[in-house]
Amino acid sequence: MSSRIKIQRICEYCSKEFTARTTVTKCCSDDCAKRAYKARKRAEKINVSITETQHIKERRNEDLRTREFLTVMQVAKLIGCSKQNIYKLINTGKLKATNILIKKTIIKRSEIDKLFNTPKQKQEIIKPLEVSECYTISEVQDKFKVSQSALQNIIKRNNIQKMKEGKFVYVPKVIINDIFK
Ligand SMILES: [Zn+2]
Repeated sequence: MSSRIKIQRICEYCSKEFTARTTVTKCCSDDCAKRAYKARKRAEKINVSITETQHIKERRNEDLRTREFLTVMQVAKLIGCSKQNIYKLINTGKLKATNILIKKTIIKRSEIDKLFNTPKQKQEIIKPLEVSECYTISEVQDKFKVSQSALQNIIKRNNIQKMKEGKFVYVPKVIINDIFK
């Protein structure tokens, strides 16, 4: 690179503008270059330290995953939510826990797994709808003389399974017949 070059650059360390002799000069002076180098090294060390901490945390979590019995705190860490949320799950009966000692709540690992398995099982029970076994929304309106908003409310309130195909929304005949009989 020619030394006749004169180019304005910003010092990486002190942020002052300076005239550089090459297009890649990063600092305004040797002093700044040294300090910038030190700062870079320090940042590298900090990054190494942060990754180290992350690895330790991950290892701890792995350790939690293989435990059969966990405390509320450990469950909270494992799932990634607050202790309060875990207590809420316990108090509402969604998560089974045992008080083996006063103020010592223990949760079995298999109970945590159940927490996540339940919705899946529910999904499997729902059968896909057959068009021949369904009414369209407008068919229900005509047949049972009900307004669209009233029908939407009924569908919502009764948690009725819906299926959209093309521009039609279908609902199961049996359930609709049962509601309007
Ligand atoms: Zn500088």
